[in-house]
Amino acid sequence: MERLITWIEIKEKTSKLDKSLKYYGVPRGGQYISALLNPVDSPEEADVIIDDLIESGATKKRYKELYPNKKFIALFEKKHGDDWLVFPWETKEEPVEDNFKRILQYLGEDTEREGLKDTPKRYIKFMKEFLEPKEFNFTSFDGEGTDEMIIQTNIPFYSLCEHHTAPFFGVANVAYIPSDKIVGLSKLARTVDLYANRFQNQERITTQIAERIQQELNPIGVAVSLKAQHLCMCMRGVKKHDTWTITSKLLGVFKEDLNARNEFLSYIK
Ligand code: ZN
Repeated sequence: MERLITWIEIKEKTSKLDKSLKYYGVPRGGQYISALLNPVDSPEEADVIIDDLIESGATKKRYKELYPNKKFIALFEKKHGDDWLVFPWETKEEPVEDNFKRILQYLGEDTEREGLKDTPKRYIKFMKEFLEPKEFNFTSFDGEGTDEMIIQTNIPFYSLCEHHTAPFFGVANVAYIPSDKIVGLSKLARTVDLYANRFQNQERITTQIAERIQQELNPIGVAVSLKAQHLCMCMRGVKKHDTWTITSKLLGVFKEDLNARNEFLSYIK
């Protein structure tokens, strides 16, 4: 059985201790108790070393060996077979789902109705799945002889706007001109997902994709462009439902050479 210890009980017990003495609290539970007395930051400065609970006695033994001249006490003692003691600082926080439930209630929803009853749980699961970073191995191959642009167009992506947590989604185009290394084509799409599946802004995703490819493959150039619709723009305020935001990041030869840039742009039209 569990027995929940209350702050009142702790206060009662500590009120019987001599507050003119200096107390060092054993981390972590003892610290809450010493804070109610006359705390010091190290056992050396203390008159008494205090813990919340003596259970096996191992902690007491350890402190007695280190500081044989210091008095060691505990506020509670638990013997074999006694109830399991739970201190106020050990109680679990409310499940995170309850916070989301409260937001729904604040928004005027009846969270007990059929359709919403399990929504907080589903929402957390959905978010965790979506936001899970899907790191992968950027296995590259010898790209000897490949010195032309490699481009992948229309890679679909989904992301969440970090300002409103509303989705934004669209397509990505990713191109690079290898120097000596090439990468499996699926890895370009996975790089897009890796940076899109977060709370993001479109500009940052674009830059992160380009920089990652640059870093992994050291190509002559990288070009990334993203075209997306932002639900925070479509659903509220200006309600522009056919507005597309286009971002791009050009590195190396794509930045320096107009021909390379134009070739990329001609492919993504
Ligand atoms: Zn937004």
